[in-house]
Amino acid sequence: MIKGFIHFNIYTLDKEERVIEDGGILIEDDIIIAVGSSQEIEQLCQGKVVELEDGKGKFIFPGLINTHTHLYQNLFKGLGSDMNLGDWWPKVLAPLGMALTKEHLVNGVRHGICEALKSGVTTVVDYLQFHPVEGLSEAEIKVAKEMGIRLVYGRGFRDAGENMGFSNMNENTDDVFAEVTYLKEKYQKDDGMIKIWLAPAAIWTFSEKGLEKTRTFATNTKTPIMMHMFETERDNEICLEKYNKKAMDYYIEKIFLGPDLLAVHSIHLSDDELDIYKKYDVKVSHNPVCNMYLGSGTAPVVDMLKKSITVGLGTDGAASNNSNDMIEVLKTTVLLHRNHYKKADCINAYDVLKMATIEGAKCIGMEEIIGSLEKGKKADLLIFNPNNSFKTSPVNDGLASFIYSGDYAAIEKVVVNGKEVLNKGKVVLGDEKKIIEDSIYSARVLKEKV
Ligand SMILES: [Zn+2]
Repeated sequence: MIKGFIHFNIYTLDKEERVIEDGGILIEDDIIIAVGSSQEIEQLCQGKVVELEDGKGKFIFPGLINTHTHLYQNLFKGLGSDMNLGDWWPKVLAPLGMALTKEHLVNGVRHGICEALKSGVTTVVDYLQFHPVEGLSEAEIKVAKEMGIRLVYGRGFRDAGENMGFSNMNENTDDVFAEVTYLKEKYQKDDGMIKIWLAPAAIWTFSEKGLEKTRTFATNTKTPIMMHMFETERDNEICLEKYNKKAMDYYIEKIFLGPDLLAVHSIHLSDDELDIYKKYDVKVSHNPVCNMYLGSGTAPVVDMLKKSITVGLGTDGAASNNSNDMIEVLKTTVLLHRNHYKKADCINAYDVLKMATIEGAKCIGMEEIIGSLEKGKKADLLIFNPNNSFKTSPVNDGLASFIYSGDYAAIEKVVVNGKEVLNKGKVVLGDEKKIIEDSIYSARVLKEKV
């Protein structure tokens, strides 16, 4: 089955950074088979049965990649809103996380995926750090499959952090590795729809042995790692206290750094430490809304980009952002760094678009199959119709409209792996009204726990 789009403005994000005015795309099943001018696409369609969509005044961008979130946290919006990370985690997040059941998790994840799709996300990198009952990993993966989004699932765990009154927060690493192996065998297929990663929580939640074993398992089984790193000064404080060295020196000593490591946040880093990131090709997930919300500081993203460190964008969980809105992240990234570096030209709309698409794909080692619109890649894209919204119209510059005036209401369609998962702004594979009712119910029940 061949589907096509013609008369769109297309931001390909390919190596030549082509922007095609009056362009088209052909998709066969899950693969992009052609990207070019509308005239070229029309010629390719001759003699074939093609379902063509006309897009005058509309734009096609590669689907956005949210490189870090905790989908279930949609249930916790607005709780502990005015606390620092050090208070918020033990007083709000831990008790709520440890009260999760399969039903609540599913309700929160479904809600989070709806918001992701409505904000143009085709791939979500999720990090489930609480496992108070068995089966949560599979429950989440099944929801992603049901709703048609591409999921990188991070199996969160810790082996030695403070338990804060909970007995089962720390886990045996071998049990976690066994679960990860099972999940990979069962769900990680060639279509790239589901990937299984390790998600160690943070440095202060691991024994030396636990961290070493995590690195060994990751390397031996080619399972990448996502981890919260340098979010606050605490990483260095704890390492100095426990090991008499700074966190970066500890990571180097443990041979923990590598190209398969996605370092989430990466705020409190010196220029020399950025060089170490570059040397080991560590990838960064930048979460500006969350960082500002928690008052964690500003990641030196412009310096990272100057050093050609790979940086993707994320929302982080809705408990420390209050939404999963990737559109909001795009503009916020620009505002934060222009203000931080006191220069309007230190970062531009295209830099941000790259971080949200092709650079995000590099962060998760998937740049060969997603992140740009090119022949042979998976068909993951979004259609932006700026004329659908007061916020995004009128349009003098399509990219400026998308990044600086972006709005959910203007995301008309989302295609993942060749399938429409959002159409006319509505989620295709889910009942939106019921999903909101279910998440309201779970949020109400869980709120009683804090
Ligand atoms: Zn996080």
